[in-house]
Amino acid sequence: MMLYRHIVVGKGGVGKSALMTQFVQRRFFGDGYWPMEEDTYRKQVEIDDEIYLLDIVETECQQEIQGLDLKGEGFLIVYSITNRESFEQVTREIEKIQKMKEKEDFPMVIVGNKTDLEKDRKISQNEAMDLAKTYNCPFFETSAKNNHNVQEAFYQLVRELNLY
Ligand code: GDP
Ligand code: MG
Repeated sequence: MMLYRHIVVGKGGVGKSALMTQFVQRRFFGDGYWPMEEDTYRKQVEIDDEIYLLDIVETECQQEIQGLDLKGEGFLIVYSITNRESFEQVTREIEKIQKMKEKEDFPMVIVGNKTDLEKDRKISQNEAMDLAKTYNCPFFETSAKNNHNVQEAFYQLVRELNLY
C-alpha cells in the first residue's frame, strides 16, 4: 500500500527550492540559476518500511497557504542560519499556521539551512534548538548545497505526520 503525504515548505529566500531540488533530484544550482524551478515536486520514498508518495509544495505567502487543503499536511519551516530576519520569521510563520488551523499543534520540522556558510552564521544552533523546544518540534541544520541533513529533515517530517 502506498501512503500519500503532503508537505508544505514555507517562507522565501532561504533555500526552499534548493532543499526540494536536492531532496527530489539530488542537484544544487548556485546563485539564482534555476532552470528547472517548479513549485511542486512529487517523490516516492521508502521510510521505516513504508512506501510514501510525497507531494512537496513551496509557498511564499499566507494567501497561498490559506488556499491549500491543510488536512494531513506537514510543514517544513525553513530559515537561513546566515539571516536573522529569516529566523524571526519562523515564529511568525508558526503563529500564522496555528491561527489558520485553529490549533496549537501540527506536524512540522524547523530547518536552519546554509550550514556551508558557517563563516556568515548569525543564528547559533543553541538559539534555534531553544526555539524548537518551545514548540516541541524537531530541528535540523541543513545545507542544500552540500546535501547535508536534507533527506533526514524531510524523512523526520513524514514521521511527525504519522503521529497525528
Ligand atoms: P527560496 O526562495 O527559499 O526558494 O530560496 P532558493 O532555493 O531559491 O535559494 C536562494 C539562494 O540561496 C539561491 O541563490 C541558492 O543557490 C542559495 N542557496 C540555497 N540553499 C543554499 C545552501 O544550502 N547553501 C548555500 N551556500 N546557498 C544556498
Ligand atoms: Mg523558491
